[in-house]
Amino acid sequence: MHPLIKSSLSKLNFALGRNPKTEKTEDYRKFVPEPYKAVFTLSADFELAWAWRFGKGLGDPCQAAIKKARRARKNMPELLELCEKYNVPVTWATVGHLFLKECSRENGVPHPGMKRPEHFENGYWKFDEGDWYKDDPCSNHKDAPEWYCPDLLDKIQGSEVEHEIGCHTFSHIDCRDVVCPPELFRQELQECQKLARERGVELKTLIYPAHTVGNLEELSKSGFSNYRTNIGNVLGYPVKHPNGLWEIKSSFQLEWRADWSVDYHIYRTKTIIDRAIQNNSVCHFWFHPSFEHEYVEQVFPAVLEYLNEKREEMLLTTMAGYVDWLNEKSPVAVKQEAASVAS
Ligand SMILES: [Zn+2]
Ligand SMILES: [Zn+2]
Repeated sequence: MHPLIKSSLSKLNFALGRNPKTEKTEDYRKFVPEPYKAVFTLSADFELAWAWRFGKGLGDPCQAAIKKARRARKNMPELLELCEKYNVPVTWATVGHLFLKECSRENGVPHPGMKRPEHFENGYWKFDEGDWYKDDPCSNHKDAPEWYCPDLLDKIQGSEVEHEIGCHTFSHIDCRDVVCPPELFRQELQECQKLARERGVELKTLIYPAHTVGNLEELSKSGFSNYRTNIGNVLGYPVKHPNGLWEIKSSFQLEWRADWSVDYHIYRTKTIIDRAIQNNSVCHFWFHPSFEHEYVEQVFPAVLEYLNEKREEMLLTTMAGYVDWLNEKSPVAVKQEAASVAS
């Protein structure tokens, strides 16, 4: 489809209220705590160079992945400052390898103790030759900051905002049952949990790399409480599955769209927030910290400012904090302090 037609159709569907799809419930109070009218959570797929090293259609995917990592590193301090300015928490779903300060080869092999997926292809990646860890520089966070980031995790944990650190697997694997045996999935999570505990963090939220939802039985046995799905955009309600896991549905991706004006980006995002409040919905936005810097400068501040303005009506919390409330483990997930913002 011609991009201009696609963009016009997207705007039309939005104007008609078809995107995000709005769900109804008989009793929204099961999902929205008093005295709020809606709930809002925000997640980031935090991966630096790990996500796109097998990306299709990127020429040299490893170089493209490194470029994205550098952009994410440039964006991160500004993103964290904006979160502080408007007191908006994020669930930072972090690739486990990023917790490391360094790593090295043993007998020429990176991470010899870690299992590897078989060669596979999905909609985004093609892993058809060599070792899964072939691009791992086996270096350290100073010399290869695209592959490790204890420094950024320190910043997230040191923030005044009550952010959550979530999980995005250890090496950004495809988790679907057809590709990922349970032993591989389990080991990836265990490695992340071990590294997170060293930082005093209990991982509760899994964001599946490239939306490759799978191995749900293993996930439920692992101590996690929830995961995100991206099946269209939904303003609706989380689902509790029989295995005890909560599924949080995505409502919208925050990203720079070249065919939208800055004003339209802001208008559309604020309107989704308004619709969530009108409909008493649970609203979830997500983003890649490697998104274009234009977004960080020109759109993201307006979105966070609006969320801060709406916090009396809308509970702003993390995914794990919200699920703790759903599981009746905590009365209200996050301190509701308005950021005092000079306008
Ligand atoms: Zn490594
Ligand atoms: Zn990812």
